[in-house]
Amino acid sequence: MTEKTAGQQLQERLFTKKQHAHNLLDATEVEAFAQEYKTFLSENKTEREVITTLVALAEKAGFANIANVGGVEAGKTYYKVDNNKNLALVRFSGLKSIHAVASHVDSPCLHLKPYPLAESNKLGMLKTHYYGGVKKYQWLNIPLALRGVAHTQEGTRVDVRLGEDGPCFTIPDLLPHLAKDQLKKEAREVVSGEQLNAIAATIPYEDEKVKDKVKLALAIKLNEQYGLTEEDFLSAELSLLPAGPARDAGIDASLILGYGHDDRSCTYASARAILDAKKATHTQIALFYDKEEIGSYGRTGAQNLFMQRLIEELLELSETDLRPSQVWEKTNILSADVTAAVDPNFSDVHDPSNATYIGYGVAIEKYGGSGGKYSTNDADAEYMHALTTLFKQHNVPWQTGELGKVDQGGGGTIAMFLARHGANVVDMGPAVLGMHAPYELLAKHDLFSTYKAYNTFFEHSLPK
Ligand code: MN
Ligand code: MN
Repeated sequence: MTEKTAGQQLQERLFTKKQHAHNLLDATEVEAFAQEYKTFLSENKTEREVITTLVALAEKAGFANIANVGGVEAGKTYYKVDNNKNLALVRFSGLKSIHAVASHVDSPCLHLKPYPLAESNKLGMLKTHYYGGVKKYQWLNIPLALRGVAHTQEGTRVDVRLGEDGPCFTIPDLLPHLAKDQLKKEAREVVSGEQLNAIAATIPYEDEKVKDKVKLALAIKLNEQYGLTEEDFLSAELSLLPAGPARDAGIDASLILGYGHDDRSCTYASARAILDAKKATHTQIALFYDKEEIGSYGRTGAQNLFMQRLIEELLELSETDLRPSQVWEKTNILSADVTAAVDPNFSDVHDPSNATYIGYGVAIEKYGGSGGKYSTNDADAEYMHALTTLFKQHNVPWQTGELGKVDQGGGGTIAMFLARHGANVVDMGPAVLGMHAPYELLAKHDLFSTYKAYNTFFEHSLPK
């Protein structure tokens, strides 16, 4: 072998070496984790379904509902659930220090309107109001399933699940032959919010005296299957979302194409990371929030005081003489969310040397926001340094980057809502392609790197 030149040696010493995560990970482990995640992703498509499944997993692993215990002990595991939309999994080790990983369980989709049943031009329709930052035209011409929760007049709760195995719904786009005017529109106007109505039925109920015959036929079907009347949709939480299971993508099967990687890749990775974690000297908490996609508002969004209430409960149950603010100050949090990977077809929106790449490990994002780091958490140098040192010590494949070019756009996560209480927080999760599209792409190596990062963070103290 020829000797390295002085320049090569200097480069090696001074420049960052970026390598694909497969150099650091076991291929069998990566694949096994990916298959389990795919099943989770295919089966859980609403925030409630995700939380219900996580609670079941936690109970199976011996976590006790904190609402039913008289005290908490070091080494024991607990969970706190709120309205099937907020969840905390806790491995308790006192309140001197906490390591928490916080993800969100909601994903962009099309919610049904309060009065969703309609008839238009002889077709039965379901009217929607989109949820989250979607490019509306992407939701046309794909099979949609209807999932969620409703209550009948008698007060019975029904879990609606239509269109996964049986007949699905769809919103057809305008044919190109007649799209002369449509194609001149800006992309955001190509299909308007009020045009996001799914075709749901076509055969009329035959009764001359009835006006909306197809709407009636549609209402009858929903009533037969779930006992629902039109009024019951007012209080329901029903979503139209991509039908069918997640699947492998790429000839090397290195990717997963599926609905809701944002943010269920982080949700699943953090849940598995805490379930698998060995106990540490700090308390481990995996937090799951709703409503991130619409700004983390409301009772179950990350701007609420769910973590604060959990801390208060833990203080009381452990008879610890600390104020909640003292616990927050000793809390380190990973805001577990996805970021944007460089897409070769749209690479001009990134600065290539400050971007995240598919397959190069979990992405640590010091800040997001937009317009001069506005509206973001900007993690401290000390915290960044401690985490990257920890990951180097434990062979966790990681990379760092910005969400896109300066002033190209931007985005937020729940990081800043947790940081305001005095905790250390930084964003961390896999970089995905096609974020917020009905089907997003995630690399299996990035998913496993994310799991490994969270698990390492749960198990170890931060290097000084
Ligand atoms: Mn997200
Ligand atoms: Mn999102």
